[in-house]
Amino acid sequence: MQRLFRATSLLLLACTVLLALLPSVASAERVRTKKHARKACPVQSPQPFLIRSSFVKHGALNAVAHDKALRYRAEQYGNVEGFGLERYNKEKAYSNATTVRFMDLPLQIHKKIAPALRCVERAIRRSCTSAKDRYVPRALGGFRTSNTYRGGEISNHLFGIAIDIDPDRNPCCGCVSPWPNHPACRSSSATVFERTALPRCWIDAFERYGFYWLGRDPDLRDTMHFEFLGDPQLIAP
Ligand SMILES: [Zn+2]
Repeated sequence: MQRLFRATSLLLLACTVLLALLPSVASAERVRTKKHARKACPVQSPQPFLIRSSFVKHGALNAVAHDKALRYRAEQYGNVEGFGLERYNKEKAYSNATTVRFMDLPLQIHKKIAPALRCVERAIRRSCTSAKDRYVPRALGGFRTSNTYRGGEISNHLFGIAIDIDPDRNPCCGCVSPWPNHPACRSSSATVFERTALPRCWIDAFERYGFYWLGRDPDLRDTMHFEFLGDPQLIAP
């Protein structure tokens, strides 16, 4: 009888210890998952020397600063024909094009930035769920093979690191005609955040993972356009 009592007590003690351990196992698992998410989606900022306003001021191109940014982009992503960038990288940027899906739409981008864009989408789906943050894109633009800039600048679309979302709803108020006539560009009192249909939550999600929002560019105010200006070496594969 005494032996049975001792065995039951031991069993009860074991169960209590196990139950006490369970929450810490669960929280350890949570920490591990969080750590993994951080590692898979490292938070990073655009590199200042790659931001357009650091080499174009009031429409004037600073050739030295521009060349530095161009060289970096060519070395990291490949060359673009017709600009003499082959000396930095023999490989064409477009040979690294890949088609991904972003928010259920197909998009062609450089394969190096695909994981960063996945992190953006994950953050949007996780955080931008309130009514004011909900947004359903209808048209995306990514890789391009012809330049849209004039005056020596090369669009980041040619390197496959830029994305446009719904140009009709997110205008480029500082671009050439007919853009400035877009109703959202007409009001002089509106902030740039009021000139775009994109929710702030979406802009924040892009900026969290190394994308620069060209809506911030003081000349262009190109609200449809995001470009990856972070360090591609920091992107987890
Ligand atoms: Zn664009």
